[in-house]
Amino acid sequence: MARRQCAYCGTFVDENAKQCPDCREMIPERIEPRKDPSAGRAEIRRGLLYTLLGAVPYYFASPGSPVTVPFPIPPAVTTYLLPLLMMLGLGFVIFGALKRVGVL
Ligand SMILES: [Zn+2]
Repeated sequence: MARRQCAYCGTFVDENAKQCPDCREMIPERIEPRKDPSAGRAEIRRGLLYTLLGAVPYYFASPGSPVTVPFPIPPAVTTYLLPLLMMLGLGFVIFGALKRVGVL
């Protein structure tokens, strides 16, 4: 059984007690901390930015795009770097969403 301490005399009382049996002082109701309304928002925004920063160059640098880039792009960039950036952004979005829901 959970017990709380009286703020006035220090006696341990039942968690649901409204009055201290020792000093007869009223024990205030426990106030649950409010959830932060902006929790996870920064992570979601950052994740969307990273995803966009990876997706736009990926679209223009990948073969078959309607725009030809006037300089050569190493294949490692379109094969590994830009998809990695997009996955990182997606991870940030999922992390922010979980923080927002309250799982983390
Ligand atoms: Zn007391």
